[in-house]
Amino acid sequence: MDVSIVIPIFNEELNIIMLHRRLSSVMATLNVSYELLFINDGSKDNSLSLIKQLSTEDKNIKYVSFSRNFGHQIAVTAGLDKSIGNSIVIIDADLQDPPELIEPMYRKLLEGFQVVYAKRKSRQGEGWLKKTTAKGFYRLLSKITSISIPVDTGDFRIIDRSIVDVLKMMPEQHKFLRGQISWIGFNQTYIEYDRDERNGGKTGYTYKKMIRFALDGITSFSHFPLKIASIMGFVVSGISFLFICYALYSKFFEATPAVKGWTSLMICISFLGGIQLLSIGIIGEYISRLSDNIRNRPLYIIQETNVK
Ligand code: UDP
Ligand code: MG
Repeated sequence: MDVSIVIPIFNEELNIIMLHRRLSSVMATLNVSYELLFINDGSKDNSLSLIKQLSTEDKNIKYVSFSRNFGHQIAVTAGLDKSIGNSIVIIDADLQDPPELIEPMYRKLLEGFQVVYAKRKSRQGEGWLKKTTAKGFYRLLSKITSISIPVDTGDFRIIDRSIVDVLKMMPEQHKFLRGQISWIGFNQTYIEYDRDERNGGKTGYTYKKMIRFALDGITSFSHFPLKIASIMGFVVSGISFLFICYALYSKFFEATPAVKGWTSLMICISFLGGIQLLSIGIIGEYISRLSDNIRNRPLYIIQETNVK
């Protein structure tokens, strides 16, 4: 098998037929043996039955269907686990990642790279809030991590089997695949593209999922937030020390000690309370992920599949 194409599916009934058509014609021009691996991540619509029907007509189609929604990164992970190709493409099902780009990406890979990712020059049809938060997040992440995670790239990429072999040795529960792949190294390069609008349906990434994903990325690749907590601790302790000196001085050496001080007291209490809760929250984000990793449950449960 030359190429495996991993496609996570969450409520994509409006896109599957078109996606299949475009992928098939791209792969036909490449003239390679390939498999289309659809990972149904607990879709509530007709996605699964559509895929199953397609799979009776097209022998290149394989599918794995989860018992519920496990999330995009886990769906991709399952696809990588089941793939058998020498090269593996990860692509979204909503046609925001143009399948036609696989051809230049594949050619680049054959030049001797292990990873060719697609970097977004522009993004169509996404709200300004999503675009600015994404932009800010990628820049923050590249500032606070020691590995260089490329900015403005999603998971759309083609990778060599050797990368998948390493990924399988990284069993963390909270995946941030684009970070893991950068961390692995080897020869990586990119091509640029304009990200299209979603073909049909609506995004499966709610803001809740996006925030969780961003926190997964930060906590898996950086201890910076923990350091911030300690730095804030030092700074606040320093200020408090000066304040204590003043309070004691005022009590013993001033004729009228500062009994007024209600405002400053309130500010201190709320400020300290805020900083403390924030720091505990930061620690909590790390601890909750630690405990998930220690529980070590299976990453996903397969309900149905045609992969042997
Ligand atoms: N997806 C998934 N599980 C989810 C959410 C999304 O498998 O819980 C899939 C979705 O079907 C698509 C890809 O992940 O193929 C990217 O999702 P989406 O287009 O909704 O995200 P966006 O492009 O809006 O960031
Ligand atoms: Mg999308």
